[in-house]
Amino acid sequence: MNAPRSIPVQRPLLPHADRLVPYLRRIDATRTYSNWGPLADELERRLEAHFDLPKSGVISAASGTSALVGAVLGTAGRAGLERPLALIPAYTFVATALAVEQCGYRPHVVDVDPHTWLLDVAGLHKRSRLDRVGLVVPVAPFGRPVLQDPWVAFRRATGIPVAIDGGASFEGASDEPGRFLGEIPTALSFHATKSFATGEGGCIATTDTSAAKRMTQALNFGFYEARDCQWPSTNGKMSEYHAAVGLAELDGWTEKRAALRSVAENYRARLGMAGLGDRFFGVPDVAGCYALFRSADAAEAARVQQSLDRSHVEYRHWYGKGLLSQAYFSDLEHDALDVTREIAPLIIGLPVAPDLPNESIDAVVSALRAGVAAQH
Ligand SMILES: *Cc1c(COP(=O)(O)O)cnc(C)c1O
Repeated sequence: MNAPRSIPVQRPLLPHADRLVPYLRRIDATRTYSNWGPLADELERRLEAHFDLPKSGVISAASGTSALVGAVLGTAGRAGLERPLALIPAYTFVATALAVEQCGYRPHVVDVDPHTWLLDVAGLHKRSRLDRVGLVVPVAPFGRPVLQDPWVAFRRATGIPVAIDGGASFEGASDEPGRFLGEIPTALSFHATKSFATGEGGCIATTDTSAAKRMTQALNFGFYEARDCQWPSTNGKMSEYHAAVGLAELDGWTEKRAALRSVAENYRARLGMAGLGDRFFGVPDVAGCYALFRSADAAEAARVQQSLDRSHVEYRHWYGKGLLSQAYFSDLEHDALDVTREIAPLIIGLPVAPDLPNESIDAVVSALRAGVAAQH
């Protein structure tokens, strides 16, 4: 007998080759392959219209991580001796910490709110030793977007630059760009596993078009118009090939978005019937590329994982057990991290694909149900 096929935790679906061909032919004709050529330019202008941002409010980037590096270098510059610290949340993907480190900051890890999973801006206002802090990077956990207003107020009150790691928050930002995009730059990831995807890619989104010039420089060797390196920087540009995927992805976005939404609705309906509806987080609460199950406690989480394993359902703790549990980051300076330590093991990422069949969702839900019900 064949081993049963497992259900992958993510099965991304990007535009097919035939939808890319018209864009690829334009690359053949222009022989421009990178350096914000015509396709990257078109993608940026279309995303500006999509997000209701002014011209140069979207800067395409090679990845979400490089977009974050560009946003940090463009707004805060590299860390200085007086203010070496960057405050970042414990409950995030490792890229947040890696990006601030690349900009010379020493990450100082802060706990998150138990309900929103976000950094609590009110708490930060009251913190001591803010005079050592040169940067704050709030994160959009699982694509739950970060509000602009409280962070604009924080920056105004403290003078500390802020750059948002918007990660997977493309959908949230699309729905209410006026609340979630603004003068604080937001880095978005277009990684294959995100709802809106170009394979590798990302962008910075902002209404601050004067800072946009610095962020563009920061992604292009410090050059702006002249070949003169004027700013701390990297090479974080999006190639024309990735822009081609982005344009085709945007052409089909309405359908892809609806498909992801219907996966979440199908999860909700089935988990609701199993009496587990209140354990589920999916789009629009989080990004469509995530379907999250929250276990009641550590013992239940262990049973649920055993049950998923037995049923050949893949799952993932997308942010591990928090940043401090990553080998490289285990020595980072940090606050008490009780919330992250408690919730990270409980929040289990379930399979998602735009074309995830209902039979797969049924299999996931019966495995969850068995795990919750099992006696220890
Ligand atoms: C995906 C993600 C990143 C990294 O983006 P890449 O495009 O993979 O570089 C960073 N932060 C968060 C919160 C993410 O979800």
